[in-house]
Amino acid sequence: MSLRATLHQSHAIRARLGLMATQFSTSTGFADGVSLRELPKSNIFTVKLPPDPAFETPESSHNAPREALGPRLVKGALYTYVRPELIEEAILLGVSPKAMKDLGLKPGQESESQFKDLVSGKSFFWDEENGGIYPWAQCYGGWQFGSWAGQLGDGRAISLFESTNLKTNMRFELQLKGAGRTPYSRFADGKAVLRSSIREFIVSEALSALGVPTTRALSLTLLPKSKVLRERIEPGAIVARFAESWLRIGTFDLLRARGDRDMIRKLATFVAEEVFRGWGALPAAMSLSEDQSMSSIDHPERGVPWNEIQGNQGFEENRFARLYREIARRNAKTVAAWQSYGFVNGVLNTDNTSIYGLSLDYGPFAFMDNFDPHYTPNHDDHLLRYSYKNQPTIIWWNLVRLGESLGELIGAGDQVDEERFVREGMAEHAAPVVIKRAEGVIDRTGKEFRAVFLNEYKRLMGRRLGLKTQKVSDFNDLFSEILDTLEALELDFNHFFRRLSSVPLADLETKAKCEEVASIFFHSEGFGGIGYTENSAKERIGRWLGNWRTRILEDWGPSNDLERQVAMKKVNPNFLPRGWVLDEVIERVELRGDQEILGRVMHMALNPFNTEWGLCREEEERFCGDVPRYKRAMMCSCSS
Ligand code: AMP
Ligand code: MG
Repeated sequence: MSLRATLHQSHAIRARLGLMATQFSTSTGFADGVSLRELPKSNIFTVKLPPDPAFETPESSHNAPREALGPRLVKGALYTYVRPELIEEAILLGVSPKAMKDLGLKPGQESESQFKDLVSGKSFFWDEENGGIYPWAQCYGGWQFGSWAGQLGDGRAISLFESTNLKTNMRFELQLKGAGRTPYSRFADGKAVLRSSIREFIVSEALSALGVPTTRALSLTLLPKSKVLRERIEPGAIVARFAESWLRIGTFDLLRARGDRDMIRKLATFVAEEVFRGWGALPAAMSLSEDQSMSSIDHPERGVPWNEIQGNQGFEENRFARLYREIARRNAKTVAAWQSYGFVNGVLNTDNTSIYGLSLDYGPFAFMDNFDPHYTPNHDDHLLRYSYKNQPTIIWWNLVRLGESLGELIGAGDQVDEERFVREGMAEHAAPVVIKRAEGVIDRTGKEFRAVFLNEYKRLMGRRLGLKTQKVSDFNDLFSEILDTLEALELDFNHFFRRLSSVPLADLETKAKCEEVASIFFHSEGFGGIGYTENSAKERIGRWLGNWRTRILEDWGPSNDLERQVAMKKVNPNFLPRGWVLDEVIERVELRGDQEILGRVMHMALNPFNTEWGLCREEEERFCGDVPRYKRAMMCSCSS
């Protein structure tokens, strides 16, 4: 098999910068999507950002033996051209129909050999004529568990191209995870095992269906001949995945650690212009009075008053501060969605925190079962750094690292484009002002992060509880009280909301009725916790149900209860890919060769609010039912 892309077509050339879009915008129609070949492809990332100087062109990388590419330290670059490793055999196990649609691919493409070859890394696009599209791996670093880890990078992910959906104009970077070693593989093998690939394949799409921003999964391919050593020998696999951007806070971290200020500026500009599609898409600048921004700065010894350095009296945030705020706001919303749906990432290092605010990097993640703020699915996280309740704080911790990387840019105020500043950075005498100003931006962004987080959390939790309006008292009376109750009685977080959705208000008219309903939230074996009797447990839940009923009546009136139930079921999933379900899927796919379950569970994950899916009733009910007692709050190791 030639490594040269069998898919290489002249289409790819014109598509390089999205030029093909016009071709389809009229009568040909792309309502059902286009073929893989027709999909507009680009490589804006590699065109606009600097390549690894050791292999500056696709040709130089392509002609080098794979081993020559690395692993090694790569400096002055944001990526290295690297091709997927050759594989002997590949079996496409499944695709996500929603991913196909969102990419703009027409249904049925998955049975074409072109598609299978692409998503398994057997062939790839190479647009030579434009010196253009050729696979690449990104260079980044990261703070892991609070310590600086140095260069990391895509050690087993290889990006193939960016594609644009002609209908939505969404642009995605498509990449293969598990396609072999790259310069960033360090000591590892560049492979991914089937077990963790199944988990990523399903959860990416499940989160997307819940409306949680996430990287996506197009397909899962088994490499039957690949034997991968983890805790045992396991089969290898490749997930073809895509995202609006794969840039992470860790990408900036590495540049900062190396003092590469030019590249920080270049990358920040790229993020604003290409990822967010223009500075105009960012939040408007906040104007701050002298008092708010600078009051404490004083420079008597150098005789330079801050307003001279700054050039104006008031201070308006510059565009890099607006970029920082956009990244913070996006991450605030995403972590609010995690908290609202009980999703725990498990490893929120800065290299796993997205610049675009996506849920990113699926290792030992989980949807929590019983509500437990201390829960972490990460077996190795002894300090609970990445536990459920710490997620918002940790995301902010990561964003402060980003603020530090952008510090000079956000602190430079309106002097950010001055030639001397661009060339040499801040003059020594201006440093205190710039630092102070950057700290001000970070502080204010922290407040904004908190506000955006809380708003989104309240919005989502209110929606989950069937509320149409927000009252200040809801936070304590409804949100906190039910969470405390679930925690105290060791009851399931997501089942609570789903079951509540179908409780008719007519069943809650008296205290006695409320207490009778309370037991629907119990596990099959009852409830847990210390110090509760069945009566006191029912009483506590019953009291809450009574308060909730009053609030629902306020919002919906007495005669709209069916609509309220329908609305709640649209936001409270019946199915979630819990740890135990994924374990069963893995066992059946890996040990029993049962591929069909993968399609069924993907279908459930993509339609999480359904009452039934019409596929396999017994299995559906089991997967949506009580989590078997000894399979709750599972943990997994990071090995994947
Ligand atoms: P993660 O724990 O998945 O966030 O990965 C941390 C870093 O290790 C990233 O740079 C990954 O690309 C790299 N990495 C993880 N597993 C492998 C592997 N099997 N081969 C190469 N690099 C890996
Ligand atoms: Mg990672």
